[in-house]
Amino acid sequence: MPDTPFYEVNEAIVLSGGVDLNTCMQCGMCAAVCPWREVDGEFIVRRMIRLGQMGLEGNEVEDILYGCTTCNKCVINCPRGVDIIGIMRAIRTMTAEMGGTPDTLRAVIGSCDSNGNPWGEKREKRTDWMKGLDVPAYTAETEYLLSVCCTSCYDSRSRNIARSLVKLLTTAGVSFGVIGVEENCCGESLRKTGDESGFMKLAEANIGLFNGRGVKKIIVTSPHCYHTYTREYPEIGGEWEVIHHSQLLAQLVADGKLKVPAALAKKVAYHDPCYLGRHSEIFDEPRAVLAAAGVETVEMPREKRFSLCCGGGGGRVWMETPAEKRFSVLRVNEAVNAGAEILATACPYCVSLLEDSRKTENLEDKLEVLDLSEVLLRSMEGETVR
Ligand code: SF4
Ligand code: SF4
Repeated sequence: MPDTPFYEVNEAIVLSGGVDLNTCMQCGMCAAVCPWREVDGEFIVRRMIRLGQMGLEGNEVEDILYGCTTCNKCVINCPRGVDIIGIMRAIRTMTAEMGGTPDTLRAVIGSCDSNGNPWGEKREKRTDWMKGLDVPAYTAETEYLLSVCCTSCYDSRSRNIARSLVKLLTTAGVSFGVIGVEENCCGESLRKTGDESGFMKLAEANIGLFNGRGVKKIIVTSPHCYHTYTREYPEIGGEWEVIHHSQLLAQLVADGKLKVPAALAKKVAYHDPCYLGRHSEIFDEPRAVLAAAGVETVEMPREKRFSLCCGGGGGRVWMETPAEKRFSVLRVNEAVNAGAEILATACPYCVSLLEDSRKTENLEDKLEVLDLSEVLLRSMEGETVR
């Protein structure tokens, strides 16, 4: 943070599309539900609003402002309808303009600018996840563009999500294809970390690419891509029919295009990702996929709109969080305590963070973390059946 001891930001927030901070009546209902309260007792959301009302000062900014995972829990709990995420994003954007973006996020921003992905990997490696698989290229005759999240393109664990989905789509006879190395990150993390110009660069490149190829329908593997393609790209010329893979898999099962010969003999808990559940209200389809897989589902505390954030949204996935402050640690323990052998979810960030916490908590013998596509494929392949 540069030497900017104090300045008023409320007017600037309103000018940049955020709500007037004076709408807030300091009731504290947002703070009561913020997941940070569970790991360090900090009322991060109210401190964030205070930052906006009183001004930005010193190193408070990185600790408070970049702690928010944009989980949306405070927003849906606010009686005044204060768009707290919008306020946070506006303050982060102003902080970025002053050169105050944390170093770890700068590396991510730089990689998106030069490589089109946040992973610091070369663009040409974007399709490495497809090795050994017959993945069709998208053409004018293809029904769906399969837009694979950067995490599932580059992260070795996450690649299996995309690979499992391709096997399921192929089995079901879905007309789909990929564009490949020309595609860019959707830019969701950049926008949430305050790099608005970086977001626009990626978004405009993707919109030009997809529209130029005549894309009408898109399958996404990440709720973050889903949110960006459905809520943010339409404002700048990108409008398609977008479906998250949990929705499509539920449809394919209901239509009898994916048949499960025997039930998977596992107890499974489902973790609602913030951007699929609270942000997009997709709660039923993932559960329909698990039901189709024939697993025995067990309930964790805090399901559906009350789900606990994994800790990866809002750019946090790229930042270091001490083990004792990780929401994902709470979540894997909740799954084990509920009797689950598999913690299923439907977001590459959730899989990544829950997988890490499963390991750091020494739960590898007790709990697996899987995407829905992996659960369904295992069940169809009859890996462990009852
Ligand atoms: S819940 Fe809404 S009105 Fe209450 S303190 Fe939080 S932002 Fe302000
Ligand atoms: S969006 Fe989530 S993490 Fe951010 S302040 Fe609100 S409740 Fe806390």
